Amino acid sequence: MPIPDMPPRFAGDPDPLGIDLHMHSTASDGTLSPAALVALCAERGLALMALTDHDTVAGVEAAQRAAREHGIALLAGTELSTRWSGLNIHVVGLLPQGAQGRLVEGLAAQAEARARRAEVIAERLAKVGLHDALARAREQAGSERPLGRPDFARALVAAGLVADMGEAFRKHLGNGKAGDVKAHWPPLAEAVAWIRDAGGVAVLAHPLRHGLTRRKRGLLLDDFVAAGGQAAELVSGFQNPDVTRDLARQLDERGLYASLGSDFHFPGRHLAPGSMSAVPRTAVPPVWTHPWLASWLEAPPRATCTAL
Ligand code: AMP
Ligand code: MN
Ligand code: MN
Ligand code: MN
Repeated sequence: MPIPDMPPRFAGDPDPLGIDLHMHSTASDGTLSPAALVALCAERGLALMALTDHDTVAGVEAAQRAAREHGIALLAGTELSTRWSGLNIHVVGLLPQGAQGRLVEGLAAQAEARARRAEVIAERLAKVGLHDALARAREQAGSERPLGRPDFARALVAAGLVADMGEAFRKHLGNGKAGDVKAHWPPLAEAVAWIRDAGGVAVLAHPLRHGLTRRKRGLLLDDFVAAGGQAAELVSGFQNPDVTRDLARQLDERGLYASLGSDFHFPGRHLAPGSMSAVPRTAVPPVWTHPWLASWLEAPPRATCTAL
């Protein structure tokens, strides 16, 4: 069952492509279960989706089952937290063969890192008045999954210490604030190696969202390519078209493929699965034309499910 209508190149189509390769579920900090997310994607008419929860593939099996029911193609994935030049950089792994090889140990290490990091974040937040922060964040998570900063942000809101999630990140959890703990994450290059060892395609997530200058972004892309990274998100949610064209030039110069995704976490805001800015006409090839993904797309997607 080849997947229909996968454009072979970006021709400047103003309509959404029905493809979303970056989304979250309750396996990490999203609010929809994997099955509910897949149902929403099917309802919105997506042809191809990837589930890319933070540092885990725990939701993929349930998502695969739902995807078969709804007749939508689902690529296994994850979004790895890494460190580069003192920044927290995210790398999406698109995993046609699921989690295999060194990625399996890598994901176990990430879960462990999240647990230790949550303890440090809790200590830091106690100093700004959030006592029992670990228990409160766990209550917000509502399950035993690894904790993330959004759980602590919700705990800060629930305790009345901040007005909303935005303020929680601005004051306590965002870049450079006390609760922004990065030390536990592996170097960027290591995470890329795990993904490649699983036969996956490593995609630099939302390169425009780190507030980097064009030059610094170029250095990040250079290091990512040197580590074996194959693609970057040319479009992540909504972004300025001039900036997108400029980013396309940076990808083109380095021979990177282009991915795209909404980074959807929960309904009710401006983002939905498949909603993102249009991709301009560009010579940068779509990531689904990368040989490792193209062969998966030609084979029945269900053939990969046992490997998960
Ligand atoms: P962590 O994976 O624990 O480092 O948490 C990072 C996550 O926090 C991101 O993936 C977003 O889902 C969320 N996040 C980051 N910044 C903000 C913000 N300003 N407001 C709300 N959520 C945010
Ligand atoms: Mn998130
Ligand atoms: Mn991210
Ligand atoms: Mn994400």
